[in-house]
Amino acid sequence: MTAATAKTDHWRPAYVGLGSNLQGPAAQLDSAFDLLAEIPDTRLIRRSSLYRSSPFGGVEQPDFVNAAASLLTQLTAKQLLEELKRIELRRGRKRGEVRWGPRVLDLDLLVCGSDKIEEPGLTVPHPGIAERNFVLLPLMEIAPGLTIPGLGRLANFPVNRDEPKISRIV
Ligand code: ATP
Ligand code: CA
Ligand code: CA
Repeated sequence: MTAATAKTDHWRPAYVGLGSNLQGPAAQLDSAFDLLAEIPDTRLIRRSSLYRSSPFGGVEQPDFVNAAASLLTQLTAKQLLEELKRIELRRGRKRGEVRWGPRVLDLDLLVCGSDKIEEPGLTVPHPGIAERNFVLLPLMEIAPGLTIPGLGRLANFPVNRDEPKISRIV
């Protein structure tokens, strides 16, 4: 079934976390925002500034550039994740990479409406939101009033002081 035939009949807000540390990360994110705007039955509403962050997960690799986007979508969370993976592949992301290793583009579905989903291949809200500054800071910039389903108000989340540094670059 294609996205166009299976979409829901109402518009819901969704939030995407973007990251890149290969092949011109800032330009990668600029182009990813353009591709997010082209997802069927979906509108790109806001894009955050770009942030530079130290790598996470213990793999030796270049700094990341991170950002967040808000969308309105008629797609289900599963359909939206498929679209995000399609964009990653289109930008040259390779399957079977090391988790938390270097990548040309990483698109995580952070939140999709009020969905709480835990199934193989799809966990929404994304489990990394609460403890990752490189997710929290861009998301707070574009959606300060957001409530994360099951976790509460974003504004109440503590910024994690133990985490590697992050700074706004654009
Ligand atoms: P993390 O998910 O901890 O940020 P990662 O982004 O490095 O790690 P990936 O290798 O990009 O992990 O993705 C691993 C799998 O996570 C994907 O195959 C995807 O199906 C699954 N996944 C589950 N929930 C989500 C989600 N909300 N957004 C993106 N991918 C998800
Ligand atoms: Ca990720
Ligand atoms: Ca990912």
